[in-house]
Formats: sequence, C-alpha cells, structure tokens
Amino acid sequence: MSQIIGKFSAVSYAFQATAPAQNWIGGEWQDAAAGETLEVLNPRYGRAMSQVPMSGAQDVDRAVQAASAAFESWRETPMRERAQVLYRLRSLMEAEREALAWLISHENGKVYGQALAEVDKAIECVEFGCSLPNMAAGAQLDVSRGVSCQLIHEPLGVVAGVTPFNFPLMVPLWMLPQALVGGNCFVLKPSEQVPLSMLRLAELFVEAGLPTGVFNLVHGGKATVEALCDHPGIKALAFVGSTAVGRSVYGRACTAGKRALCLGGAKNHLIVVPDADVELTAENVVASFTGCSGQRCMAAANLVAVGDVDHIVAAIVERAAKLVPGTDHGALTNAASIERITGYIEGAQRAGATVLVDGRGKQGDEGGFWMGATVLDHVAPGSPAASDEIFGPVLSIVRVPTLEAAIALENASPYGNASSVYTTSGHVAREVMSRVEAGMCGVNVGVPVPREPFGFGGWNDSLFGHGNITGWDGFRFWTRPRKVTTKWALQKDTTWMS
Ligand code: NAD
Repeated sequence: MSQIIGKFSAVSYAFQATAPAQNWIGGEWQDAAAGETLEVLNPRYGRAMSQVPMSGAQDVDRAVQAASAAFESWRETPMRERAQVLYRLRSLMEAEREALAWLISHENGKVYGQALAEVDKAIECVEFGCSLPNMAAGAQLDVSRGVSCQLIHEPLGVVAGVTPFNFPLMVPLWMLPQALVGGNCFVLKPSEQVPLSMLRLAELFVEAGLPTGVFNLVHGGKATVEALCDHPGIKALAFVGSTAVGRSVYGRACTAGKRALCLGGAKNHLIVVPDADVELTAENVVASFTGCSGQRCMAAANLVAVGDVDHIVAAIVERAAKLVPGTDHGALTNAASIERITGYIEGAQRAGATVLVDGRGKQGDEGGFWMGATVLDHVAPGSPAASDEIFGPVLSIVRVPTLEAAIALENASPYGNASSVYTTSGHVAREVMSRVEAGMCGVNVGVPVPREPFGFGGWNDSLFGHGNITGWDGFRFWTRPRKVTTKWALQKDTTWMS
C-alpha cells in the first residue's frame, strides 16, 4: 500500500496541502470511475488543501464486491480476534493523537483543542468496540429437559455508513467498532467536505492488522449515497447528517429492503430558570453554542429564559463578547454557511429581536469562513431563528413566563435531539427531565452527550429508525440474533416443547 496521506505533519494552523483523496477499495487506492473530483477546502483559509473523488454506482459496486470477498473469512474470525484489531487501532490513535487532531482541524476548521477532544471521544468509541467480546456472550438456557436454547449474534454481511462534515473522525467511529467487531465488512462514505481523516484511518486499520476488504472507503455526495441505498449487496445502512437528507435516505434504504438508522439535525433547547447558578450556566451555555462554532448536533440553539433571568443573560453576553474567532472557536465550513447564518440573524432582527452580541464581520485568518459568537434576545417563538437549525455560533433567547410555557415551547419543535435545564431545584430538574421531547437530556450540562457505554441517539425528527447508534444498541443494529435450540437425547416420554 502506498501511503496516500501518512501521519499528518502539521503542528500548527499554517496552511498545509495533502495528496488528493482516493477511494480505498479492497486494499487499493483508486480514483472514481468517472474521474470527477471536488476541492477539499481548509475553512480557516477558504483555500483548497486537497481533492476528493466523486464516486458513482460503479465505484460503490466495486467496494461492495471487495467487501463481499472479505466477508466469509472475517465472519469466521473469532470475535476476540476481531476486537484485537481495535486494541491495536486504539494504541495507534493514541500514538498520533496530536497529528489526527491537526488533520481534523485543517479539513474541518475547528480549533486544535476542540479537534483534540474529538480524537479522544473517537478513541473512547474504539474502546467500546474493544469491550464488546466481554458483553456479547449470548444467553443460553436449558428450556426443557435435555434441550437448550442459545443466542448467537451474527453479522449482517456488507454494511454501509454515511457521515457528516462536523466530526470527520468521531462520527465514523460511532459505527465502525460495533459493525466490525460484529463481523461485518464496511463501506464508508465520509462527507466530501472532510474526507482526509478517514484516509488516515484506513492506513491505521492496515497497520492494526485489519484484513484487506473489511473496511472500504467510497467518497462522493448524493449520487454515491443513493447508490449505497440501492445496492442489493448492502444489508444495512447508517446515516448521520441533516434531517431532510436523513429522512430521504431512510426511506430509500428501507424501500430497498435494508435495515436503516438515520440520525438527523437538531434544535436544542436549554431552559434557564431564575434559581440557576450564574457562573456555571453562563460558562456552559457559551461553551455549548460556540464550541465547534455551533456546528454540533448537540449545540445549544435556543435559550428558553423563564421569568427574570437577566442577570444570567448578562453573564452569557459578557463571556460571548470576549471570544476570539480562530482562537476560541474555529471557522465555519464554507461560504454558504456564513450566508445562511447571516440570513437568520437579519431575519430575527426584522422580526423584532435584539442583537446583544454581533458576530457578523468578525474575522479569523485571512480568506476563511468566519462568524463570531452571536446572541439574539427576544426572538419570537415560531420564527425561523427559533425553529430552524442555524448550525452556527448563534444563541436565540426566547422569553417565556413560566416553566410550563418553556416545556411547551421545547415540545413544539419537531426535533428531539438534546435538551437541558439550568436550575438548583430538584423539582424543576425532574419536571423538565420527565416531560421534554428529547432523547439526550442534561441537568446543568450544556452538551449532554451520553458518554460510552450509554447510546447516542435523539428522538422525533432527529432520528429515523430505532435505537441509538452507539453503545449496545449500535451492536444490535449491526448484528442479527440467531437462536439455536439443541436436543442431545431422545425424549420418548415428552415432546421437545414440554
Ligand atoms: P448533510 O445531510 O448535508 O450530509 C450528510 C451526508 O449526506 C454527507 O456524507 C453528504 O455527502 C450526504 N448527502 C448530502 N446531501 C445528500 C442528498 N441529497 N442525498 C443523499 N446524501 C446526501 O449534513 P452535513 O451538512 O454534512 O452535516 C450537518 C448536519 O448533520 C446537521 O444537520 C447536524 O445536526 C447533523 N448531525 C447530526 C448528528 C446526530 O447525531 N444527530 C451528528 C452530527 C451531525
């Protein structure tokens, strides 16, 4: 294997280009059959740092053939041996933790510290995969005299994943550990905006001893995803991205007879009541809506201010106004994002909102896609800034008179990813936690991501399918249960069911 990217050598934000990305199919780097490519931008500078092939049905078919060829041998490899690959991968990732973080930072635009946090979370996902053989021992029971019933988790075959731009390393590793330890062969389509981390992961998988063809990469966009949905050789497909695309991918994959789990977008509500701790709330809320420049499906989007919480809003404003783009948070992914976010801010202003902190026009490095932290107050409930996923460093404050009204506002949103409450009252916390329509909830936590082994997954329009993508649910998604009933002796006096 000639290395396509190798260990990324950047140790700062200074612009650095890489070799063009290629598809990784059956242990070989390949261009897309049609030869079409797209530029990969470093968002900090708005400048092309690489290219990515835009694959079609022919490339997807090649990858499925390679994965199918590898499947029999991989499924026969004992689970403990399959997990050993992940133990070695974990060590390799630890050893180049910083280089992986710089690579993420360059292709995605997030600042180094936040990229490092992504690497650590990705490693935690690999650790969960390492632990699977200790969890996946199926149940066994003597169901009658001389008759036992046993549960075995079998792989599905060739499976696929489609991932978004905002976590180039972590989100693919929400899927791969469970799918691979479960005995499947994988075809991954990363976001065409951030294909580079997965090239390095493919190289690390080789070093970790993953057999050829078990992990394949096919780059591209809509046409590639549609080919994955339609390919009869793919048994299951997981998707993480926006709600509109997730909904349509779910429909298409299910129509083609696949098992599908599609995680979508979000509009997360943080309810703040007057008894909340001021420092803790302000620090948390600001970190939540500005971390990764608001490009997180778990980011705070709406602060639902219950009654008089002006003292807390003032502390949020003070902190947010001090943040420096490029140092405290990174660049947005592309020019279209800046246009979209600006549109929401202008629309909110026209509808009567006050701009308490204005991030428009704030710059990081020259030429990049920048937007500073922005706080909008008195955003009208139901208006676009209060309802749509803005996906930028913007906090919309919606004022409500009561906790009841806050819960009703949150539950009117079609999304159901995350929700938090800031309070020192156990009763308020319990009330919100038991009534909000969200799959991942927090009490005094701005980004209530369930750490491993708790599964990651939202509700309503934030997830199509069943269960969580990480944790044990992930393993169950990528496997199918076989029940084996065994009888070792003739039982003349009883039926085998007795
Ligand atoms: P996106 O939906 O535009 O793209 C996701 C993937 O789908 C990419 O690989 C892309 O190439 C592909 N794609 C894009 N358009 C497509 C189409 N029309 N048909 C088929 N495939 C298509 O999402 P994004 O902009 O990359 O990521 C941001 C979104 O992802 C946000 O909405 C965010 O909330 C969401 N997200 C959700 C979670 C979660 O766990 N729920 C996690 C991360 C990101």
